[in-house]
Order: sequence, then structure tokens, then C-alpha cells
Amino acid sequence: MQNTITHWINGEHITSERTLPVTNPADGTTIRQVADGDRHTVQIAIEAAQAAFPAWRDTPPTKRAQVMYRFKALLERDAERLVQLISEEHGKTLEDAMGELRRGIENVEYACGVPELIKGEYSHNVGPSIDAWSNFQPLGVVAGITPFNFPAMVPLWMYPMAIACGNTFILKPSEKDPSAAMAVAELLEEAGLPRGVINVVHGGRECVEALLDAPEVKAVSFVGSTPIAESIYTRGAASGKRVQALGGAKNHAVVLPDADIENAANTLMGAAYGSAGERCMAISVAVCVGDGTAERLIESMQPKIAALKIGPGTEKGLDMGALVTAEHRDKVLGYIEYGLQEGAKLVADGRGLVVPGHEDGYFVGGCLFDKVTPEMRIYREEIFGPVLCIVRVDSLDEAIALTNAHEYGNGTCLFTRDGEAARRFADAIEVGMVGINVPLPVPVAYHSFGGWKRSLFGDLHAYGPDAVRFYTRRKAISQRWPSSFETSQAEFSFPS
Ligand code: NAD
Repeated sequence: MQNTITHWINGEHITSERTLPVTNPADGTTIRQVADGDRHTVQIAIEAAQAAFPAWRDTPPTKRAQVMYRFKALLERDAERLVQLISEEHGKTLEDAMGELRRGIENVEYACGVPELIKGEYSHNVGPSIDAWSNFQPLGVVAGITPFNFPAMVPLWMYPMAIACGNTFILKPSEKDPSAAMAVAELLEEAGLPRGVINVVHGGRECVEALLDAPEVKAVSFVGSTPIAESIYTRGAASGKRVQALGGAKNHAVVLPDADIENAANTLMGAAYGSAGERCMAISVAVCVGDGTAERLIESMQPKIAALKIGPGTEKGLDMGALVTAEHRDKVLGYIEYGLQEGAKLVADGRGLVVPGHEDGYFVGGCLFDKVTPEMRIYREEIFGPVLCIVRVDSLDEAIALTNAHEYGNGTCLFTRDGEAARRFADAIEVGMVGINVPLPVPVAYHSFGGWKRSLFGDLHAYGPDAVRFYTRRKAISQRWPSSFETSQAEFSFPS
């Protein structure tokens, strides 16, 4: 891997004077630099994407789909290399990185169906000799801004479908772990994508604001934290763009007294501590309903938390890796302090974890708080670390009301054996993605992904059918070919 990750614009590597360090979270060393672009870099990328658009728009959808088929094969060929890159810069385990890549590839597979997905709607004879149809046309230059926690998968939520629909694309990946996003995008050239159809610009806020302000950029997909998502939505919409901005989360799992507690505990282990809790669908709150449910859950989870295998993600057979940066580790440790100060009971304490040989890594072990209440910061705010909070309530209705009152509404889950309760929960819960005995209800690639409330700003969800709508605009065409115009005369009211 090169020592400075460059921009990838019009099929060429472009450097910037400014760079940002990229660290290996497992040992705290700086492993490479990434170019830190500015408004000028973004402008060059926009010009390349604009120049590539007319020919790409006019390329038949079947030919665009063929690029996606080849892209999928290349992703599978290079999976081991890509997974190493993800793990090295993000810190997650190799198995988890492979899972992320597989879910990303599923979005490429869905994009292979683009000729079917954008074939439009047709109505014959809507009036005398009149036929009407809607077709779905690409928007032009569109952009994607992505977070650190899924450096390969989240970009793959966006550009396969955007490109397959005939748009050209500018990706601004996270500056914390940019290599995987870059390596994946570069494969598109080998897959036969014409130059300029995909461009990658690295950097931070300056690049993002340049993309949001540029009138040539017609739509922006964003995934990241809620304060940034909200500002992206506001600024992008103010400059006339279509924007979908997916934000943060505080996902509640409700555990009913009739649930199989051992199963709930096992699945909660993965949902709360997998990827060190750095997932927008991670379960960070367990709402235990009724007497004794919390005690049974804690009793089952404590030994499992103590047995978590934690270490550098690039080593095989681990459950959890390091947090992404030292700042993020300190933020998570800060929340644990708040929790203690506010009176929550820390029944599993992951602080002070030392991984031999990796003493400078950003590791935090699994933490479990009991007796968390809705006023506490550890309940209200997204921690994005390996910290699970238990809140105790008396009834399912109380659990639903609690979940619905939270500002976030990304994912949720109910553990139960009661079908009636499950049905009521799925109906009444104000959350975008719901699992019944499924702790991470991430929709498959042919459905769409998105939260409610302050977990998503915009109207359409990510990937799946909503992505087809987001990356195209509908044109409704009515056409009349009368056999003769002899009877034609002016009409001043709608025909009835
Ligand atoms: P982040 O908001 O810090 O960064 C996301 C992107 O925005 C990055 O590309 C970053 O460079 C850019 N950015 C950062 N600050 C900016 C600013 N002031 N102005 C403009 N752009 C800016 O998020 P992160 O820490 O990389 O990712 C973690 C967050 O993402 C969590 O909140 C998590 O819940 C969320 N997330 C949400 C989903 C979802 O689908 N809802 C999925 C993954 C992650």
C-alpha cells in the first residue's frame, strides 16, 4: 500500500500539499498519510464527473450492469486484501471486515439488475391515441460522504446504484480509514468503468462543504453522526440538492420476561460488543421488562463479557478489536465516568484493558451498566463503543413508550416468545428497522436501510429500491400519434 493515499480523479492519482495521518488503532502508530483536499480538489473532481456524464448517461443500462458484474467478481477476487486494509485502519476483526465486505457486495449484485429496476412504467391508450409512460433518468453528478465505521460497505451502499443508474459520482470517504474505500473504487477502472465516472476526494469539512455548495452536484448521500447529518441536510437542501443524510443511533433491545434469556444474552453479546460497538445498528440499550429479567440477563452476560477475546483485529479468532482513534477511546471512557457519576451501576468494567504487545492500542473491554435511567447522558447520547446500558421497566407498553421518546430511531429489537406482543411492538414502535428476536435487523440489499426521527434526514432510505428513486428523477411522457389531425380543435378544459 502506498504511503500517502492520493485522490483518485478522472482515473489519475492527484496529491495535495496538506495530508492527514492514518493510524493503526491496534498499536497507535501512524501507518500512512492521506491527502487532505480543498475546494480546488473538489472542483477538479466535479469537472471530471461532469465531463464523463453525457457518455455514461447514454450508455445502455445493460452495458452499465456489465461493469457491475465485473466489479463484483473483482471484489471477490481481492476480498482478502481489502479485508486486511479495513481491519488495519479501522481496528475491527478480519471476520467482521469480511462480513462488511460481503454486505457491500450484495449491493453491487442488486445494482446488476439495473436494466429491470429502471425500465419505467407504461400505460397504453390513456386517451384517444395517447400513450403515457414514466422513465427514470439519472441526475448528473452526485456525491457520497461516508463514516469511518464501515469504510467499504457504506460507500458500496451508494455508488454502485448511483453509477448503474447513469450518474457520475464523487466519493468523500472518512479520513480516518480511507484505504479500503480507495482500493474498492479503483477496482472499477479494472472493471471497465470509463474514467471520471467515479472520483474519490479525500479530506474533511472543507471538501464536504465544497460538494454541498457546488450547483453542479445534484444529490448528496451522507452517512455519519447526527449533528453533521443535520447540517449536511440543511446546507445541501438550501443549495437545491436532493439530500439523504443518515445519522446516529441509540438502539434499544426490549427483553420480555418470556424470552429465551440465554439466546437473548448470546445475541446481545454480538449486537452490543461486535465491532467494539462502533456500528450504527449496535444495540446500546437493553430494556428489561418485569421482575428478575435484568438479573437473569446480567447473570448470563457477565461471564461472556469477561471471556471476550480482544486484540488487534488483523489477528484471527478474536471477538473484538480496538476503537478507531485515541480521541474516540477517550470519549467512550468519558461516558463511563458520566455513567458512574450519575449513579448507574457498572456490572462489567472494560476499562484498563491491556493487550500484551499492544499496550498503545485503543482498546476498551466490554462494559455493562445496570440501573440506567432515561435522564442519564449514557442513556440519551450515542456512545459508539462497547457499552451496553440496562434500563428496567414494568411493561411492554412502558418499553415501547421509552423507545419512542428517544430522539433516535434507527434500529430496535424485541426478544420474546409471544407472537401477539411481537406484532404490537412491530406496529407501535417508532423506529425504522425492527427485529423480532433478530438483534441487528439490517435490511438485505433488495430492501432499503434507514432510521426514523433524528437518525435520518431526508425522505428516501439508503440502498435497495429507495436508492433507485434517490439517484434518478422521474419523467412522465404523454405521446399522441393521431391518424389524422382533421378533428383537432382547441380544448379549454380537462377532458372528462
Ligand atoms: P462523522 O459524522 O464524524 O463523519 C462522517 C463524515 O463526515 C466523514 O466523511 C467526515 O470526514 C465528515 N465530517 C466530519 N465532520 C464534518 C463537518 N464538521 N462538516 C462536514 N463534514 C464532516 O461520523 P463518524 O465518526 O465517521 O461515524 C460514526 C457515526 O456515523 C456514528 O454516529 C454512527 O451512528 C453513524 N453511522 C450511521 C449510520 C446509519 O446508517 N445511520 C451508518 C454508519 C454510521
